[in-house]
This record gives sequence, structure tokens and C-alpha cells, in this order.
Amino acid sequence: MPCYYDLMLYSHCGTKIVKQASNTMWGFLMSKEFNSKLTDLKRYFFNESDVRKFIDFLMTKAEVIAPQTKGEQSFAYNVVKNSSDVALEYPRTMQPLKKYFLPPVETLLTFKMSSNEFSEEVIEAKKQIFFGIHSYEMKGIHLLDYCLGKGKPESNYLKRRANALIIGISYKPDKYHFATSLGIDIEETEGFALFFEKVTEGYLVFVVTDEGAELIKDFSGGKPIDEQVNIEELPQQAKIKYHYNRLPQVFEHVYNSRVWDHFADKCVGCGTCNLLCPTCYCFDVRDEVGLNADDGKRQRFWDGCMLNSFAEVAGGENFRNKLAARMRHRLYRKFSYITKSSGELHCVGCGRCTRYCPADISIVEIINSLIEDYSAQQKKQAV
Ligand code: SF4
Ligand code: SF4
Repeated sequence: MPCYYDLMLYSHCGTKIVKQASNTMWGFLMSKEFNSKLTDLKRYFFNESDVRKFIDFLMTKAEVIAPQTKGEQSFAYNVVKNSSDVALEYPRTMQPLKKYFLPPVETLLTFKMSSNEFSEEVIEAKKQIFFGIHSYEMKGIHLLDYCLGKGKPESNYLKRRANALIIGISYKPDKYHFATSLGIDIEETEGFALFFEKVTEGYLVFVVTDEGAELIKDFSGGKPIDEQVNIEELPQQAKIKYHYNRLPQVFEHVYNSRVWDHFADKCVGCGTCNLLCPTCYCFDVRDEVGLNADDGKRQRFWDGCMLNSFAEVAGGENFRNKLAARMRHRLYRKFSYITKSSGELHCVGCGRCTRYCPADISIVEIINSLIEDYSAQQKKQAV
């Protein structure tokens, strides 16, 4: 029986080693490319039992939130009651992680009509550990940090973020993921304290920050590995036809494309694509007065630009009452409008909007159709 040190090692980058790993426990060491993001990180080997024990250990430190099964086919982030409930391999959760930093409904203040007084809700952000988070989800949080941190910073969001420790995990892409097409690798570690990479017999645990190192030290489980380790590169099935750097340029030329009408014909305007998107952050604010006609509260609710009421203004006017205009607006928010100030695309390729769209509308198909339209325009101009 080989020991965990029985590694196959690469002698240089970029070479495909096709040595059969079946005589070792390291069947994962079949890579076409050296993964430079993990090169310099200290690493440990955890078997699945070590991982569950580690989650138990985390639960002694703070509230732990991790993906768990929901129904027969879905997954949701929830507070962990038992480490055996945590889903270590899952494609994506239905709702994004942002629900813990920007809740779907949040009371901002309470008021009293009779005395004309109000008091702002003060949130007590507690330490939370998020375990088993994918890289595209982490990127979504970084993009929200930008959107909610600039201008007048959203203090509740930032308070919750400051108290979060996030631990990443690798994933096997399904037909909806296209994050790597947008430049977000599966092993992107920015924002994580530790990163768990699935391998045949367990997990390689990479130490990303000092906080992560401290946790591993206190846990005193797992086995340190000194050797260089290479990770199998898992291809994603859904792909954008152009390099992601070219997408803002495409969006400069497709505002009047027929593509919008084509896809909007199938759309039912349910808003699911907005509400499940990790980078959408639009909201509505409503005041409600209780039955005593005196005590009231002001609440903030998630809202979405695909909903008919979103662009409705006083007098009943709606400046985006057509579905095609709403769909165009949604996509321009991801690939053009905010990109102009942040310099980043605001879609992370999680595939939620496609996976859960009741009309089977694929965001990758929309983008690729826009690329085709743009490319046809360019060819016409060249003639
Ligand atoms: S989820 Fe699909 S049907 Fe619903 S608004 Fe979005 S694109 Fe339209
Ligand atoms: S637009 Fe769709 S694929 Fe992109 S981040 Fe939002 S839900 Fe994910």
C-alpha cells in the first residue's frame, strides 16, 4: 500500500505526464499544465475523515456555514449543525453566498408615527466561517465589495464581510459553468484563508493566509507535504467564443442587436436570473406600518431589473417595459456599465441564471450570439 508521500512529480512546467497513477493513491496527478497559483503555498493532505474533523474543529471557533443538500437535486448554504451534512462536492448552490452579507430582507430602521421618532437598526456582525466555497463565488463577493464599498459604503454589508473567514474548495464544472471563460480559474485562491483541492483519495489543503495557517496549526491534523504538486486541469464545457477581454468591446456595438428580441421572446420576466445572481445587488425599500397604525419599519428587499416593476416610476410610467430592454440592461450591467468604472466583468460564470431559468435561456448562448452579431458587423465594415 503506497503512503501519501507516494507522489508523481513534474520535472518541468507545461509537460503532460501520462504516467499511470493507478499504482498509487494519487490518481489526480495527471495534469496538462502546472498550476502556478498553488505553487508556493504550504500544503497538507486531508482524507475525508480529516475534513469532517476539521469542520467540527471550525465549529468550536465560530458559526460555520457550508453547502448542504436541499431536496433531491439542489444545494444551499446553511449553518452547519453536523459536519457529516456538509456537501464537499457540489456544482453550485441555488442562492449565492451574498445572502449572508446582503440579506434578501433587512430592516433598516423602525419608527413611531405618533411621535415622529425613528431608530436605526444596529447590526452586530458575528464571526462566521464559510467553508467549501467555489472560486467564482468568491469572485462574486469581491465584485460586491467593490460595488457596495464605493461612494457611500454600505456599512452593514461591510461589517458582515469584515467578520467572515472564507475557505475555498475546488469543483468539477458541469455544463452551466463558464467561469474559466471569464478568467476565473477553479484554483483561484484570492480571498480564501485555505483552499481544499479534491484529489482521488482526499484533499490537498493549501494554506493561503496567516489566518489559515493558524487554523491548521491549532487543528494539528492532516499531513504536511513538501513536494511540488500538480493539479489536474478540469475543462469547462460552456465557453464564450471570444477572450473575455474583448467582451466590453463587443458590448460597445450590440446595443441595437436583434439578439435581444430573439431571447426575450422566450423570457417570462420572472426575475430568477437576477435574484440568484451573486453579483446583482439592486434593492427596493418599503415602509410598513403595523396594525396599530403607529409602529412601523423600513425594510430593504432584493429587487431585479428583469421584473416589470423595477423601472416603474411615479405616474405608472415604465422606462423599460419591454423584456428585450430589460434583458439588455441586465447584460450591460454585467459586461459594460460597471466594467467602465471597475475594470472588471461583473459576471462570474457561475451558471445559476441558466441552470434555474424556467425558459431555458442560456447566458452563454446570449453572449455568443452577440459575439456573432458583432463579428458579422466587423466583416461587413471590412468589405
Ligand atoms: S430567469 Fe429566464 S425567464 Fe426568468 S427573467 Fe431571467 S431570462 Fe427571463
Ligand atoms: S449573470 Fe448568470 S452566470 Fe453571470 S454571475 Fe450572474 S447568475 Fe452567474
